[in-house]
Amino acid sequence: MRIYDIITKKKYGKTLTREEIDFAVNGFVNGTVADYQMSSLLMAICCKGFNEQETFDLTEIMLHSGDIIDLSAFANLTVDKHSTGGVGDKTSLIISPIVASLGGKVAKLSGRGLAHTGGTIDKLESIKGFNVNLTREQFINQVENVGMAIVSPTENIVPADKKIYALRDATATVDCIPLIAASIMSKKLASGSKNIVLDVKYGNGAFMQDETEAIKLANTMVKIGNYFERKVTAVITDMNKPLGSAIGNKLEVQEAIDVLKMNKQNNLRDVCVVLATEMIGQLPLDIKNPKEAVEEAIKSGKAYNKFKEWIAAQGGDITDIKSINNSKYKIEIKSNKEGFLHSISAIDIGTLALQLGAGRNKKEDNIDYDAGIILKKQCGDFVENGETLCVLYTNKDEFTKMKSDNFMHIFEICETEPEKQNPICAIVK
Ligand code: URA
Repeated sequence: MRIYDIITKKKYGKTLTREEIDFAVNGFVNGTVADYQMSSLLMAICCKGFNEQETFDLTEIMLHSGDIIDLSAFANLTVDKHSTGGVGDKTSLIISPIVASLGGKVAKLSGRGLAHTGGTIDKLESIKGFNVNLTREQFINQVENVGMAIVSPTENIVPADKKIYALRDATATVDCIPLIAASIMSKKLASGSKNIVLDVKYGNGAFMQDETEAIKLANTMVKIGNYFERKVTAVITDMNKPLGSAIGNKLEVQEAIDVLKMNKQNNLRDVCVVLATEMIGQLPLDIKNPKEAVEEAIKSGKAYNKFKEWIAAQGGDITDIKSINNSKYKIEIKSNKEGFLHSISAIDIGTLALQLGAGRNKKEDNIDYDAGIILKKQCGDFVENGETLCVLYTNKDEFTKMKSDNFMHIFEICETEPEKQNPICAIVK
């Protein structure tokens, strides 16, 4: 077999066999297929596509390139959630304790943020003492005893994806549905849960710019999950605006606590209730109405108690999370006109949070955990001229010299009242 022939075959739109995909992927991982050959094949896949069987084969080959977590001790009670990435997305911190408090087992490997999107591991590391690096034994024991654990993957999970993704990122071959679906699903399958809920985002702050593409991606991922005998549900959600009103690591942990303590009613809470309801609905628990159970877990304080138990189990201390923000500057951005707030651009507000110090441009960059943004107005609210739209938290001097007008492009303010928008666009099963 020759990689040259495999590339040629895909260039002419022919279907690759499992052996050919295996030859390319494993050859690339072990160095017998060169970067330029793999990039050429990836580009041919982007242009000519992959059919269902090719996508399943690619997923399976990538899945077996590294370690697979064994959660069989928990039978069918394990449930994972994956978000395709967004701004202000702290749903894992909220729904995992809700689901664990109702009897589900959430054994979660999470990632760090990159560019304008945040990552759960960075948010957890903003909590004093929180340990994201448990051994496999500690991880399994905690899932057994507490019902949940969220860690950074220390294991060799899908090394093929790490290598292929780095190449895709540099060769304009990321935005290809079969490649994205195989990349995400191989990692979810390797993480070991029997049930998976996917939060597939669309909009200016997401990978998928429009709903139709997000639904196509969701369908592909659900089919992959079913092929590997997992229950998979995908919730398609709006990422044209940020989720909730906090962007930035410590600020987002505070907001997650507010939702769990019933102090918040916003698009974040709405999305969390739907995701947690879908997760509970997948599990063999004696729960007749998952949505009511989820609402009750929040209302009764059961979910917040589980949150505290989980954070303590991983060494975290949240006693001062609400009261201490060490940012040198707290800068109010004020509106220069009155009207109804129609939109808050997720990409722009995410990029601003990154510049304030809350994220990284490159993997090696350090994060300022206190940095970020609190939105004081939500879409649909009426704003007076001169009223505060948001507060910036930062240690960077350059922001003190900027005027509110510099940030007005983020907010769309109009005379007419906008229609209320549902953050959930569709549910794919
Ligand atoms: N997230 C992933 O993990 N993989 C992709 O290909 C795109 C987004």
